[in-house]
Amino acid sequence: MYQADIEKAVAHYKALLESQVERAEKMNQASAPEKKEKTVIGVVGGDGIGPIITLQAQRALEALLKDEIAAGKIELRAIDGLTIENRLAVNKAVPDDVLAAIKECDVLLKGPTTTPSGGEQLESANVALRRELDLYANVRPVSVPEEGIDWMFFRENTEGEYTLGSKGIEIPGLLTMDFKVTTVAGTRRIARAAFEFARKNGKNHVAIVTKSNIMKKTDGMFSILCREIAAEYPEIQADEYFIDIMSANLLKPNMRSQLQVFVMPNLYGDIITDEAAQLQGGVGTAGSANIGDRYAMFEAIHGSAPRMIARGMGDYANPESILRAAVMLLQHIGMPDKAAKLTAAIEAAAQIAPITGTKEGSTCAQYGDALVQALAE
Ligand code: NAD
Repeated sequence: MYQADIEKAVAHYKALLESQVERAEKMNQASAPEKKEKTVIGVVGGDGIGPIITLQAQRALEALLKDEIAAGKIELRAIDGLTIENRLAVNKAVPDDVLAAIKECDVLLKGPTTTPSGGEQLESANVALRRELDLYANVRPVSVPEEGIDWMFFRENTEGEYTLGSKGIEIPGLLTMDFKVTTVAGTRRIARAAFEFARKNGKNHVAIVTKSNIMKKTDGMFSILCREIAAEYPEIQADEYFIDIMSANLLKPNMRSQLQVFVMPNLYGDIITDEAAQLQGGVGTAGSANIGDRYAMFEAIHGSAPRMIARGMGDYANPESILRAAVMLLQHIGMPDKAAKLTAAIEAAAQIAPITGTKEGSTCAQYGDALVQALAE
């Protein structure tokens, strides 16, 4: 009865499999990027509260990097057009001209972008950018010193449930099917990134987080390959946890203070890093880095907060998240002193112009003024 639907689905699946084989083979041939004289930082506002919070991060970078900008070593370049209106108009997650402009940059500071959910097929701009720029490591720090929490999450960023998230199969009225893809090269490089970070930062424990008892092929291979990489780091203890119990462990004081570095497939990382950020004070306080061998993109971990905009509260959005992302950007381009200066200024500005998310608190712009003032001192 469903023969025609099944045949259509099989043809669709064959094309998907061929595209994934091609992607996996390309990963095996990746080469090291060339060194450049000038670093171009692209600044992308995004949607909703994105342009509001990104503006304050841009002001901070302009103040911090004014000498390097004047000397032509760094350029801050505004990239327009990554808006939901534009993306829907051309029906592309990232319009071609915007993607070309982004590829002319080295690193990006990006505001959140809206993704329509459900039936509409427009892919998330973030998912598309992570794939197009091959930003395979999503790196998110979470720190709550008074609770003994100092975590670094390494979420695989280009595979898993997300690679083919808009390319599932449907037999109308009967069933739907999505796909999860894990490659050998994709797993090895995220595992290597996590263990290298642990080694360079004196950490002696890495938690490998999977659901390999259920997702036997994909998570099963992720688990085996992470353990293979772990064997090259004998000074680091590697333990595997299932995602469900790890979600509980993050809430257990005696357990969570022992956790240090985490490595995990895409979807689990997406969920658990928001849980972790909540322990730190909410998604408005957390930044994240998307790192590849050629490009890197830094952003807030939250979305475009459409409800805040609808309530007329956009100007009260907290820019701390994107500023924490700017700190990671400065570390990434080899400016740890400027990163430390920005961290101190973020803390000072939060005292001078505290943001509460209500009209009793400061606005994002007032916070930005306090920040620029603190950077000038
Ligand atoms: P959201 O992160 O936009 O909002 C969740 C909650 O956090 C809301 O109550 C919001 O008001 C609050 N919040 C978020 N950022 C804040 C800030 N800086 N200051 C104060 N409060 C803040 O999550 P959502 O509503 O699930 O998603 C909205 C849209 O954003 C969706 O289209 C989604 O796809 C998109 N999104 C984009 C990204 C990204 O671009 N990286 C990430 C997540 C979600």
